[in-house]
Amino acid sequence: MNRVIFKVLRPIRKYGLRTFSAATSDLLNASHNHSATTGILEKTNSTDNVPQYDVAIVGGGMVGVALACSLATMPLTKHLNVALIDSNPALMAGGSIKKEDPPDPRVSTVTPATISFFKGMGAWKYIQLHRHAFFDRMQVWDYTGLGYTRYSAGDVDKEVLGCVVENKVLHRALLSCMEESNMQKTIYPARLSALDLSFSLKSDNVSSQPHANVAKLNLSNGDILYAKLVVGSDGSKSHVRELAGIKTTGWKYPQNAIICTVEHAVENRCAWQRFLRSGPIALLPIGDNFSNIVWTMDPKQAAECRSMDEADFLKAVNEALDYGHGPHPQSETKGGGGLFSWLKLDTTPSANEPFEVPPRITKLASERMVFPLSLMHANSYVSKRVALIGDAAHTVHPLAGQGVNMGFGDASSLSRVISEGVAVGSDIGEISLLRRYESERKAANIAMMAVLDGFQKAYSVDFGPLNVLRAAAFHGANYISPLKKNIISYASGEQGIPLFS
Ligand SMILES: Cc1cc2nc3c(=O)[nH]c(=O)nc-3n(C[C@H](O)[C@H](O)[C@H](O)COP(=O)(O)OP(=O)(O)OC[C@H]3O[C@@H](n4cnc5c(N)ncnc54)[C@H](O)[C@@H]3O)c2cc1C
Repeated sequence: MNRVIFKVLRPIRKYGLRTFSAATSDLLNASHNHSATTGILEKTNSTDNVPQYDVAIVGGGMVGVALACSLATMPLTKHLNVALIDSNPALMAGGSIKKEDPPDPRVSTVTPATISFFKGMGAWKYIQLHRHAFFDRMQVWDYTGLGYTRYSAGDVDKEVLGCVVENKVLHRALLSCMEESNMQKTIYPARLSALDLSFSLKSDNVSSQPHANVAKLNLSNGDILYAKLVVGSDGSKSHVRELAGIKTTGWKYPQNAIICTVEHAVENRCAWQRFLRSGPIALLPIGDNFSNIVWTMDPKQAAECRSMDEADFLKAVNEALDYGHGPHPQSETKGGGGLFSWLKLDTTPSANEPFEVPPRITKLASERMVFPLSLMHANSYVSKRVALIGDAAHTVHPLAGQGVNMGFGDASSLSRVISEGVAVGSDIGEISLLRRYESERKAANIAMMAVLDGFQKAYSVDFGPLNVLRAAAFHGANYISPLKKNIISYASGEQGIPLFS
C-alpha cells in the first residue's frame, strides 16, 4: 500500500498518525520509563496545529531517500513518522523510467556493499528493471607507460567488482522502494529556510509535565513542522549544516570533471581509468553499447572540451584512452616489469593479463556536464537534534567513484542507530545516541578521504622519481596478491582500513 502523503495535496492527516511514540509505547511500556520528550510528543496535538514528525529528512537526493527507505524497512523504525523535504520535481513525478529514454550523464559506480544495502531494503529489484552494468574487470594505468594494474573479480573469488548505474535510476529505485513501504511519510516540495533546534513544545493537556524540546523547521512555502531529529542530506552546500553551526574543513581541487555518455561499437565489461598529467579519465560501462566518461582536468580545458564540436571531442577522448599523452605500458606477458620484476611475489589470476586498449568511442550519447571538485569534511556529523549524511557531511574527488557509496554507508549506519534508540525508548534526537552514528562513520569516511586525496596528489605531479614510485605502486598492486585483494575489498566497501591487514 502506498502511504506517501504529498504535502502539496492538502489536506494532510496531521494528527491521526500513529507515531513512533505511540507505536513504541505499546512495545516498551512494561519495561522502560519513557523520557518526558517521548511522552509529550503524543499529546501535543493542540500545539499550533503544526505537524510533528519523528524524523525530518531535509534533501531527497539519493542519500536522503536511501535513509527513508532504510527506516521504512527496519522492524523498529518502520512505524516512525517521517517528513521528506525537497523541491526537486523528481520526488513528485512518480513517473517511471523507460529503457529507451536517453542515458543520464550522471552515473555512480556502486560497490558490492551498496548493492547488499539496496538488496536488504528491497530496492535492487527496481534497478534490475533498468539499464545498469556490472563489471568484472578494471584496468588502471598512466601516461608514463611505466606500468599498469589489472583487477579481476576472480582475484577475490567474486563474480563482479561493482556496478555502474545512472543516478536517475538509483534515485527512482529508492523512491519506488519508499513508495511501496507502509511507513507514514509526507513529502514537502519545498526547501528548508530556517531551523530552531531547541524549540520548546508546550503541552496544554498535562501542565505538570516538562516541555518537550523538538526542532522547528520553516520551509520556503510557508509550512512549519516539528521533528525530534532533523537529518541534513541536502548536499555539499547543506543549509542544515550551516543552520546547525557545523563548520567544515577542506579545499577546492584545481580541477573540474567533465562527464558524458558515449557509444562504442562493442560491449564493454571493464572499468578503465588512465591517469593523465591533467587528471584521470575513466570509461565506465553503463550497459548496452554505452559507457560513461568522467574526465578530470583544469577548469579552462574542461570548458574548452565542453564546447568543442562532437568530432573533436571524440578524437580527444580516444587519444586520452590510447596513445595520446604518452606510450602504452608494456604488457607483462611480453616480459615487461623490468625494474620491478622482483615484485612478482605471489600473483593473482589478473596479474598475467596483458594490457588492453579500451574500446574506441564512436558517438556522443548525452550532453556534456562540468562539475567543480572539492574535498570537504564536516567537523562534526551531529549536534543536538541534527545528523548530517552524504555530501552534506563529506565530498570527495570522484576518481574512485566512492562519494555516494560513502553516503549510503552513512544512511545505513544512521538508520541502525535510530533503531537502537527506538529499542531502548531513547529520544532519537539526543546527542549521546547520535554520537554512535558519528563515531562509526567518521573514522571510515576520513580513511577513505585520505586515500582518495593521496591518489589525487600522487597523480597530479609529473616528476621523474615520483613517476618511478607510481610505477612501483602499479606493479605492487598488480603482483602482490594480498595487497591486490585488500585493495579490491576496500574499494568494494567490504573491508575497513588498513589496506595492509
Ligand atoms: C563528476 C562526478 C562523478 C561522480 N561519480 C561517482 C561515482 O561513480 N560513485 C559514487 O559513489 N559517487 C560519485 N560521485 C559523488 C556523488 O554524485 C555524490 O556523492 C552524491 O550525488 C551525493 O548525494 P546526496 O544525496 O548526498 O546529495 P545531492 O545529490 O547533492 O542531493 C541533495 C538534495 O538536497 C536538496 N536540497 C538542497 N538544499 C536544500 C534545502 N535547503 N532544503 C531542501 N532540500 C534541499 C537538493 O535539491 C538535492 O535533491 C560523483 C560526483 C561527481 C561530481
